[in-house]
Amino acid sequence: MAIFYDTHAHLDYDDYKADFAEVLTRAQVAGITKIISIATDLDSSRRALALTEQHPMIYAAVGWHPSNAHEAPADIRPALRELARHPKAVAIGECGLDYYRLPSANGGSAEDDARYKQKQAEIFQQQLEVAADLNLNCVIHQRSSFDDLFAQIQPFAGKTRGVFHCFGESVERLQKILDLGWLVSYTGIVTFKNGQNIRDAVAATPLDKFMLETDCPYLAPIPYRGKRCEPAYVKEISETVAQVKLCSPDELSDATCRTAHEFFPKLR
Ligand SMILES: [Zn+2]
Repeated sequence: MAIFYDTHAHLDYDDYKADFAEVLTRAQVAGITKIISIATDLDSSRRALALTEQHPMIYAAVGWHPSNAHEAPADIRPALRELARHPKAVAIGECGLDYYRLPSANGGSAEDDARYKQKQAEIFQQQLEVAADLNLNCVIHQRSSFDDLFAQIQPFAGKTRGVFHCFGESVERLQKILDLGWLVSYTGIVTFKNGQNIRDAVAATPLDKFMLETDCPYLAPIPYRGKRCEPAYVKEISETVAQVKLCSPDELSDATCRTAHEFFPKLR
């Protein structure tokens, strides 16, 4: 059986409280042997690290999601540095910029939007700094913010690398990311009927420049679309990606697992 990793899962969410053991068992049965639990704030980072200590197959990314940035303290660096030194903290994230729902969409002012963006940029900057300091890579969340985000990461090229998770942008933007030496990862959207733009991006991504992920509990692939997603469904994602790449499941397994080990050196 071809082995795959789920490089982006939110296992610390309450969605898995009732059947956590079964979720892990189903993942193993499906050939998903390693899972990176991605944090969204410092408490979530602590929960993710606790999971890594209880389950050999789980690793963690520690960080602060841009959509929660307005709730972050002024300086998350000291606490984040501490957490990131954990032997199973394989990356910083998820971090980045998200302009999808700005305060002005809920009656806020242009100044509210500017403040919101500014705080996201500060928290993102702090995470890039910690990643560079500790020689870790980053899991990048980007939504409706590509140009600002790209400008902010450029000074860090050569000091850290990022994977643009849930990649859904144009082939031109893909090329900018790859030219920087950074990576992308693909979710269950690749299986959606209306996901042709994602399949086009997959087709344009060299086999050794991307990883697979669920972003569970979100984005369950066909035939589970609309239900709670879980790491086992990387199998369905891998089947569609292998078809698009015209490669065998084993070739896809070799390439994506090798890329994950190279990108997350603390993954054992
Ligand atoms: Zn996520």
